[in-house]
This record gives sequence, C-alpha cells and structure tokens, in this order.
Amino acid sequence: MHNVVIIGSGPAGLTAAVYTARANLSPLLIEGWQAGGQLTTTTEVENYPGFAKGIMGPELMKEMRAQAARFGTVFRTGDVTAVDLKARPFKIVVDDEEPLEAKTLIIATGASPITLGLPNEKRLWGHGVSSCATCDGFFFKDKELVVVGGGDSAMEEATFLTKFATKVSVIHRRDKLRASRIMQDRAVKNEKIAFLWNSVVEDVLGQDVVTGVRVKNIVTGKIWDLSCAGLFLAIGHRPNTALFTGQLKMSETGYLLTTHGTATSIPGVFAAGDVQDAHYRQAVTAAGTGCMAAIDAERFLESA
Ligand code: NAP
Repeated sequence: MHNVVIIGSGPAGLTAAVYTARANLSPLLIEGWQAGGQLTTTTEVENYPGFAKGIMGPELMKEMRAQAARFGTVFRTGDVTAVDLKARPFKIVVDDEEPLEAKTLIIATGASPITLGLPNEKRLWGHGVSSCATCDGFFFKDKELVVVGGGDSAMEEATFLTKFATKVSVIHRRDKLRASRIMQDRAVKNEKIAFLWNSVVEDVLGQDVVTGVRVKNIVTGKIWDLSCAGLFLAIGHRPNTALFTGQLKMSETGYLLTTHGTATSIPGVFAAGDVQDAHYRQAVTAAGTGCMAAIDAERFLESA
C-alpha cells in the first residue's frame, strides 16, 4: 500500500512529489502517456521564478521531474482508468490493471484548453497558436493578433494582449458576447480591439509560424484571410475530472472543489493545480498548490 499516490505530472503533481518524497513518504506518481502537462506544449517560459533568462517549457518539466526523482519518487507511466474513493485505502486502476492502494491521493490531472480541432492549429501550437496570453503575449510586441471566443477569458486575453500588440481582432461565432458587462465594456472601449462578429476561424495559416487565419462569416458565407502573428484561443478549458464524476464534489463547470487548502470532499483526497483552479491557471500557482497538497497529505497521514 502506498502512503501517497499522485495522479498527474505537471507542475502541481511534480511539486507534490518533491515535497512528499522529501517527507519520506515514498510517493508514487502516475504520469499519463502524454506526461508533463500543458507546459510541454509551450515554448519559452519567462514568468516562472528562478529563471532570469527564461526556460523552455519541456526543459522546465524535465528539471522538475528530475528533482522529484532525486528524492525517491517512483514514477509509473500509464493512464488512470478508474478510481474508487468510497473507502480507504483508495483504489486506483492504471491501464485497466490490478488496482493500486493508497492511504492518500493527490489529484493533479490539470485542465485542457478547448481547441477548434483544426489540423494546422495543432501543428502550429507553440509557434503562434496559444491559449495563454499571460504566458505568450510578450512574444508579440508590435504584432497583429487574433483572439477567438466571446466569454470573459476572450475579453481578458484580448485586453491583456493590447499591451503588446498593435491590433487585436476578436473573432466570435455569434453577434453577442457571453462575457460579463464590465469585461465587455473594457474590451469594446479599447481602441486596439476590433470585433469580427458571426465569424469562425476555418484554418490557421503559416509554414513554421502563424502568419494568418482563414475566417468565415457564417451569416454571409464570405471567406477571407486575415494576417496575424498569433492566434489565441479563449473558448474555455475543460478540467480533467471525468474519472471523479459522482465521487468528488465539483463546480458546475467540472472543477474539483477544495476547502481548507487542497482538501476535496473526501478526507485524504487532495487536489492541486488547474484541476481545481479555473481562475489563475499559472505554472507557479499550480506548483504552489502542489506543495500545499503535499503538506496537507502529510498532516493527514500524521493524524490518521
Ligand atoms: P466561456 O464563458 O465558456 O466562453 C467561451 C466562449 O468561447 C463563448 O463565447 C463561446 O461562444 C466560445 N466558444 C466555445 N466553443 C467554441 C468553438 N468551438 N468555436 C468558437 N467559439 C467557441 O469560457 P471562458 O471565457 O473561458 O470563461 C470560463 C469561466 O471563467 C466563466 O465563468 C467566466 O466568467 C470565468 N472567467 C472569469 C474571468 C474574470 O472574472 N476575470 C476571467 C476569465 C474567465 P458562445 O458564446 O457562442 O457560446
């Protein structure tokens, strides 16, 4: 039986591993077949403290993993296919094999940005296509950008991007925004932001980096190419919580609810990172809550 099983190998999971390993809890970390979380699909990370010159996302994750391994974290590659949290020890099934047993569980399965599903969007991800203005906006000084979406995230990202870009075109599939009035007003008043209504992105253009997008007006049927250096998707994130449906309390949008730090609705089960955070979604905040979850798990084991 394991003291601590951690599901997820992004900044939250790996930080939880560093802390629980250094607390001599011999954590087992289950990393999916696509390990490392969202940072493995970004290029340069300039806002993670401690790297004055910046660091490439995959390199940062490699370092975090090595740090967790150094203190004795055991890694298992595989996808968690089922969990049973009804009673302790908790049961965790990896790739449909024999269940593992755990005294505590730290869930750090993250969230996935919703994408448009276009082949070139995937190919140019990290090369002009992004879902994080805070992370990547800085690379687009004096460039023209496109943001897709009509919710609060789209307004927030578009407004933020005007700090760098000369122009930001918001492409929205309807003629009404979903965003809150205050966020809409801020964006509409911003002279650098233009709105393309009833429009969708049909393709992302560019060989090695984004050079434009193909736009279609779904009312008139008109199709045209809009040149831009970056495409920011703000059409929502989906927390990776399907495994826990019916077992843990979640928000309406599927994020795990936590109280008193990282405690979920089941004692001994903790959640860290984007899986419980719809608001900040930064590598450093994920790492911070990973540390919190490790300390919460350690204290839970001490008192159990
Ligand atoms: P959201 O509210 O779900 O908005 C998603 C937007 O993307 C909608 O306008 C939607 O269009 C559009 N969309 C969805 N799928 C699309 C597709 N396949 N193609 C084109 N457009 C698509 O998501 P969000 O903006 O990320 O916000 C999520 C939650 O976080 C909300 O509760 C929001 O209030 C909150 N939030 C708050 C703040 C803040 O207060 N500072 C900042 C960011 C987010 P339709 O409108 O047509 O559905």
